[in-house]
Amino acid sequence: MKDSHVEILQALLGQPTAPFHEQAVVDQVRQWSAGRGIDFSQDRAGNVVLRHRVGQPVMRWAFEAHLDHPGFQAVSADGSLVRADFLGTVGESYFPGSRVRLFAPAGPVAGRIVGYCRADRAEWPVCEVELDSPAQVPAGTIGMWDLPDFELTADRLTSRACDDVVGCAAALAALEEIVACGQDADVTVLLARAEEVGGMGVIAAAEDGVLPGDSLVVGIETSKAQPRAALGDGVVVRVGDRVRTFDASLTAAVAAVADELARRDGDFRAVRQLMPGGSCESTIWCLWGYRATGVCLPLGNYHNQGDDGRIRSEQVHPGDFECLVKLLAALAGSTVTPEQRDRQAKARYEDLMRRRGKFL
Ligand SMILES: [Zn+2]
Repeated sequence: MKDSHVEILQALLGQPTAPFHEQAVVDQVRQWSAGRGIDFSQDRAGNVVLRHRVGQPVMRWAFEAHLDHPGFQAVSADGSLVRADFLGTVGESYFPGSRVRLFAPAGPVAGRIVGYCRADRAEWPVCEVELDSPAQVPAGTIGMWDLPDFELTADRLTSRACDDVVGCAAALAALEEIVACGQDADVTVLLARAEEVGGMGVIAAAEDGVLPGDSLVVGIETSKAQPRAALGDGVVVRVGDRVRTFDASLTAAVAAVADELARRDGDFRAVRQLMPGGSCESTIWCLWGYRATGVCLPLGNYHNQGDDGRIRSEQVHPGDFECLVKLLAALAGSTVTPEQRDRQAKARYEDLMRRRGKFL
């Protein structure tokens, strides 16, 4: 894995994040952009927008990932007992006894879940966390599972929050490559807030028209590994999620660019798969009238839910991450539009018809 990619991953994964509480990651991205002269802004909902345009590119790309991960927000405290909402989707059986780290103003404090309640009409389940030692934990303090933020071996990148901080890191790494090679490109990186509670950041961005209507949107995710999209299989060209399939022409164009890359780069691997482990923001973009598709990394221990029934770190494969970055960079530099690829495909069928139609 490239050193600069490791640095980006470490910088982002080292920050606490939870739905509606993405500020620490946003600050890292702002710092990263400033160091590279990349245009940084935030939209009305606080989503991060990075812009890069050079020359006369044929297509306008938007690479989108989300800044949050399922986590806690403290609502009240009484001595060593903290009540905290849980924002995001994790099976109820994983909560009792699991350890939580709360990022209090005076420094992180850890504790154990001693109570879990999902009231009928409440928006979120509430946990009671017993702290290891008394500490001030004001309302609004965010919490994550008490797991390491970043560990890297040859075949595993392990973190409490791969989903989707690793996706954000991939978008930045790709942007770095795109800027460095100086190719004609028009790329917006949109890093969205509050995906884990229903894609709120992307809905706001879509309603506000933050991306131009002719953008080709590529949602970047980590997604629960599947039998034909396992860790180490490469980047996944995601044809759809649990809810819908994505834009057919755009998905085919992304798959074609992946095929071209695989032919000239022996290290590049990609698979084309439906990833039904969850719904993702590409579905929202499509519903709001954008042309959107997805790419993702196969994810182990999805939403920290270990196979052994306990809370575990999430995992992706470092090689898959590098393939994802290469694919994004290649998309930005591609010069054949999805419409041209469709016309080429149709021409091949027409040629077959000319030669073989007489046998009908
Ligand atoms: Zn998720």
